[in-house]
Amino acid sequence: ETPEIGSKTRTMAILNRYRLSAKKSLGQNFLDDLSVLHGIVAAADITEADDVIEIGPGIGALTEQIAKSAHQVLAFEIDSNLLPILAETLEQYHNVKVVNQDFLQANLPELIAENFDGKHHLKIVANLPYYITKPILMSILKGNVEYEAVVLMMQQEVAQRICAKPDSHDYGALSVITQYLDDAEIALEVSHKSFIPAPKVDSAVVKLTPRKAKKQVAYNEQVFFGFVHGCFMHRRKTLWNNLQGIFGKKPEIKEKIIVVLTELKIKPTVRPQGLTVDQFVEMTNAFHKAGL
Ligand code: SAM
Repeated sequence: ETPEIGSKTRTMAILNRYRLSAKKSLGQNFLDDLSVLHGIVAAADITEADDVIEIGPGIGALTEQIAKSAHQVLAFEIDSNLLPILAETLEQYHNVKVVNQDFLQANLPELIAENFDGKHHLKIVANLPYYITKPILMSILKGNVEYEAVVLMMQQEVAQRICAKPDSHDYGALSVITQYLDDAEIALEVSHKSFIPAPKVDSAVVKLTPRKAKKQVAYNEQVFFGFVHGCFMHRRKTLWNNLQGIFGKKPEIKEKIIVVLTELKIKPTVRPQGLTVDQFVEMTNAFHKAGL
């Protein structure tokens, strides 16, 4: 029997057979560690009830593991050289479709409607190309697709920022924006040695699930995202300083800012990293109401 794609021997055999060298420019680091692959699928808790989108199947190591458990898999691979390889490595999995598309350019709602029956839960799973981790995350978060879970391998440092809690070193705009929409947790830490070629830094798998307690809702998501970025523009400065950077320094503006902060019981001298997600939402809405 052929060993699984993600085993070291099979990965080597595939790379040699096709004389494939990983393209750095496309973030190609292939997983050749079955325990990690199994860990990703376990974190995503994939079952027959799920349709799964995968970003960047590579030579199919993760795709194979997903296909074994899922109903349908739709995988986006930008590198056309990998398509004939995937056709062969995934030959036996009839529930997999690979499209030769840049995930960032894809019309996700349309492709989901075309390829999935709408009767299964949607999950998004990937070992991400690290050079576009943030754009991919943002396109998923803002993509207007209803998912049950998103499970993404990325650089450990980015994973820590996404999952960071207030008052910690890593807490910033990325944490606030992600955690506004989703509960975020690190599901798995992964050594750089689990990849070929091995990246310089270690990785981690982040699991996102739609936030259960959405206590505060922003009146406008785009405005909220922009406001959060503005508040963290200078993270060593106070909220008061950053707010003037956003709204301006005119006396009448300063007055309005003070009224809003007083009403929300937020100290102007707090640093942005000292504020909760809900406080950012409350400020967004209150400043809008105040005409700022
Ligand atoms: N899933 C495989 C694995 O775990 O071994 C490969 C992961 S590798 C880190 C990232 C993959 O994403 C590569 O196959 C790369 O060609 C692909 N990729 C890079 N940019 C992409 C994009 N914009 N859209 C879709 N796939 C992309």
